[in-house]
Amino acid sequence: MDNRVNKFLLISIDCWRYDALSRTNSTLRTPKFDLVTQDFSFANRFFVTAPATRPSHTSLFTGLYPFEHGLYGQTYLKMFDQIRNLFQIFDQAGYRMLGRSQRPDVFRFLDFEPYITLLDPNAEQQHLGALENFLDALKSPEESPQFCFLHLWYTHGGYGMGGVRSSPNLQQLVNQGKTEEALQFYYAAVTHVLEFMLVEILKSLSLDEWAIFIFGDHGEGFCDEVMAHGDNLHQNVIRVPLLVNIPETDRLVFPEDAPVSMIDLFPTILNLAKLDINYNGYGRDLLGDPKEFQDRWVLTELDSLYGVGFLKQSNLETAHNRVTSRLKIDGQEISRDPNGRRLWTLTNGEIFYREDEQNGNYVVRDIKSGTDLPCEDPATFKLKYDELLINSRYQHLQHQETSNEEVEILENRLRDLGYID
Ligand SMILES: [Zn+2]
Repeated sequence: MDNRVNKFLLISIDCWRYDALSRTNSTLRTPKFDLVTQDFSFANRFFVTAPATRPSHTSLFTGLYPFEHGLYGQTYLKMFDQIRNLFQIFDQAGYRMLGRSQRPDVFRFLDFEPYITLLDPNAEQQHLGALENFLDALKSPEESPQFCFLHLWYTHGGYGMGGVRSSPNLQQLVNQGKTEEALQFYYAAVTHVLEFMLVEILKSLSLDEWAIFIFGDHGEGFCDEVMAHGDNLHQNVIRVPLLVNIPETDRLVFPEDAPVSMIDLFPTILNLAKLDINYNGYGRDLLGDPKEFQDRWVLTELDSLYGVGFLKQSNLETAHNRVTSRLKIDGQEISRDPNGRRLWTLTNGEIFYREDEQNGNYVVRDIKSGTDLPCEDPATFKLKYDELLINSRYQHLQHQETSNEEVEILENRLRDLGYID
């Protein structure tokens, strides 16, 4: 029997964190969304690979960790060459492609940029645009195989509060200990997206036909360590919801006590489409053998060495041919941020380990409660991390081009491991 799936819809809700969903937070009232997704499977331990839009989506579309695909952080301009992404693969396989975003310029210079256009091409301001154009494109012609991606930005910082009279400073509220009060504004933006936009999209699709993945690209801090995302790794930022509908399949059962990662969507989707591309990354097929998920630790990486302000007009308007490498415009390295950081975390879904690569500082926490845990020897976590780096089947890509800083970091790492003197 040919049980190949021919229709895919990936919905990325920017900054959608773990608790902005009625299944994890009973104060969120989304009765229509809950009905249209009641048969969707929910991954209770789903983690992103990066706390920023560009590297996180690059992992989604390539199945690779940032250190493998080359977009180490938000301000890196390009990924390594010769990495295949879902858009190219489905395009070559003859699928009809549809990629829409409320903020498509955030994907500028990335290999999949040409596939993603404005959600409403007729709207001056995307959050005031209509869904009809997207829904029409989604549904016709009905018989052809389709690969569709939708990226919603309304939930990003600002949360639709721009121009609202007397709107409070949310950072100030958090600083004053009024986090719950601040979160109400963020939850309201999420509720709008779920209860109106997603309901209108999902009710128009046959769940017997469409494989649908709904997820956050990273969360949002609202805590003393990080207010938004992108400048620190925190459990509020790395853990996001994932809802999945697989047609003609009994409800997908996520591993109860193991983490799943953004990189798992790549092999899962390709296997559903029965497309084989010789993938050798760390992502695992969510419909595969549960044993594959045992004793698993998943990685999240942050690199802000080149600053955090990618979404400047001066960057976004740079001509494509002026970007001469991952870090260079017109042959000149882009400027460093003196406060830039490199951090990584590993989690098994219960324990959160974070390390600052520059000074070795680390924390160990219980991911659910956020309370610190005793850690006698961080070396066990470092070893897991080094194993991921050393066993990656994509290491050869790192030789394509590296800055002096990157060479130094790589050499120090190998020296620590005793590979070089
Ligand atoms: Zn994002």
